[in-house]
Amino acid sequence: MATLLAIIRPGSRTQRCDARCYDARKGTACDCVCEGTNHAAGLDAAMILTRQQVQRWIAASRARDAEIHRIEIGIEAQNIPLF
Ligand SMILES: [Zn+2]
Repeated sequence: MATLLAIIRPGSRTQRCDARCYDARKGTACDCVCEGTNHAAGLDAAMILTRQQVQRWIAASRARDAEIHRIEIGIEAQNIPLF
């Protein structure tokens, strides 16, 4: 299960976008850190969307709560494939 974005806050409070979001069934509820962008999108589309929008999601999360321990962006969502 690839985690595309994890925002770790003090006290082990973590928001993450992973397969529970991008592999979810369409029409189900979503309160993910990706703001529903990756919901039911599938891994390939979610990686592209994450590359495009991850900085905006981090800024929005930081605006809601500035206490952030660590931010992890999944390696799959960091690099654009060469081939
Ligand atoms: Zn998500």
